[in-house]
Amino acid sequence: MSTPPKVYNLRPRVRDQRPTVTRRTSQRKTTLSTGRGGKTRAQLLKEIQNLTLANNALVSDNQELQKERNDLRIRVQDEILKNVMLKEKLDKQNKDLEALMEQQAEASVVLPNSCLICCENWTSSGTHRMISLACGHLFGDSCIRRFFQTGTLSCPICRRRAFMSDIRYIYVEV
Ligand SMILES: [Zn+2]
Ligand SMILES: [Zn+2]
Repeated sequence: MSTPPKVYNLRPRVRDQRPTVTRRTSQRKTTLSTGRGGKTRAQLLKEIQNLTLANNALVSDNQELQKERNDLRIRVQDEILKNVMLKEKLDKQNKDLEALMEQQAEASVVLPNSCLICCENWTSSGTHRMISLACGHLFGDSCIRRFFQTGTLSCPICRRRAFMSDIRYIYVEV
């Protein structure tokens, strides 16, 4: 036996709507008592009730899903806002860093003001005045002369050959 199709329309079918009162009455009686597929009205009502319950459950699920979706949207917006703020902070830090690096670059072109042999400041005149060798390295006059007197004829920094005659006084305008 095949399952009858589920039809919940209780209206009489079009061909049954002929204006014969007796026919209509008897048809209605039949429809209301057993319905299609031999189901009683009580069975149909029960099915409708069950379907209504299922529908209510779906509506409730849908509401929960919508609430979750709203929560998620709020969280996403929060995250976006946080990201924007983080990016601003990062941009500011990058700018600060760039400024600092510029300062350092400027500082690095300033001549060192101490002799690379004794680490003392050199002077603009006198025995420890600033000199350079042919390689360009700078020392205090007395320090490099003492170094050459040890017999090593090279720059203490880069080891290029160097002689007393390479010594050049450096004049720095202060
Ligand atoms: Zn020195
Ligand atoms: Zn050198």
